[in-house]
Amino acid sequence: MNKIKYFDHAATTSVKEEVLKEMLPYFSIEYGNASSIYSIGRRAKRSIDEARRRVAITINSEPKEIYFTGCGSESDNIAIKGIAYANKDKGNHIITTKIEHHAILNACKTLEKEGFSVTYLNVDKQGVINLQELENAITNKTILISIMFANNEIGTIEPIEEIGKIAKKYNILFHTDGVQAIGNAKIDVKNMNIDLLSMSAHKFYGPKGVGALYIKNGVKCNKLQDGGHQEKDLRAGTENVAGIVGLGKAIQISCQNLHKYNTKLVELREYYISQIEKRIPYIKINGHREKRLPGNANISFKFVDGEDLLLNLDAKGICASSGSACSTGSTNPSHVLLAIGLKEEEARGALRVTFGEENTIEDVEFLVESLVEIVERLRNMSPEYLEFVKNKL
Ligand code: PLP
Repeated sequence: MNKIKYFDHAATTSVKEEVLKEMLPYFSIEYGNASSIYSIGRRAKRSIDEARRRVAITINSEPKEIYFTGCGSESDNIAIKGIAYANKDKGNHIITTKIEHHAILNACKTLEKEGFSVTYLNVDKQGVINLQELENAITNKTILISIMFANNEIGTIEPIEEIGKIAKKYNILFHTDGVQAIGNAKIDVKNMNIDLLSMSAHKFYGPKGVGALYIKNGVKCNKLQDGGHQEKDLRAGTENVAGIVGLGKAIQISCQNLHKYNTKLVELREYYISQIEKRIPYIKINGHREKRLPGNANISFKFVDGEDLLLNLDAKGICASSGSACSTGSTNPSHVLLAIGLKEEEARGALRVTFGEENTIEDVEFLVESLVEIVERLRNMSPEYLEFVKNKL
């Protein structure tokens, strides 16, 4: 069987060998419960503390400000609901954007049913919020601003430092969903005035099912789950020691390699985009052209359906995404692509390619060759395209 060509690193990544190696003992010989006072338990606790230290160093925080969770979605839920419940005596208004991940959007929807009010900011054609619109949306009831660091579908990076300054000026808490950004962009919670930051290990070559949440010291946040007093009483449940160790190792490696990794991804992305622009007509590049995640290229192919593209690419062993993997199965066009002003058919024709560690220029060439052939074949089966060509002649 041919090796698959994987271009879906925004959906998930493989666990790095060094990461797996550090995790393995915690499934067998080091199986202690971190709450136990005997040595095997104390060693588990020490390993969790070391992972906490590694996360803290990466984002310039204190270890005591890091809480481990079960995934990025859980970090987002604790940030949104935990802050809302803890601050409801101060106000009931939250500001977010129309292009957030569903972990944020659906947490906000739940709060709306409970009497909170939420403003969903627009974004421009490139997916960037308008800072003036943000400032105008602030009321004396606003308790939280939650704006993602980088978008998972189109890769656009938001003006986080400026948002942090506005939040600080009005004394409002600022959460950012950093799930796609960690491992791809430098995040400094102090310099950027970030009060809460969500992370997820499986996006930066760590294991699935473990996440982290930074909460600035002194910020009140309610727990969502009752049980024991783990994670300083914020997140009940016996810790996933192996997962946490893996997250810690993965974030440490990604932080050390950040510059080299980014340079490589930008090179692959730019080569891919330039080749597609040169070889396939009637395309549109989605997202901001410069302020974007290094490995993300989101392109709409006119007269083609993204799902058909995916199936045909899959037949060649190529993995990519037609939107966000989290919403695969739904036939609705992506809310992010609609929010940046794409027509329904343009959104349906979008292909998200996200490059990563194991990709090479030869892989990109194979991807481009495959797309040239598939897009042409699919277009020639599209009555709309044939009509378009006929009218052009
Ligand atoms: N936030 C963003 C921006 C994401 O891209 C994702 C996953 O794709 C999540 C949150 C959810 O993370 P997890 O899969 O760890 O729950």
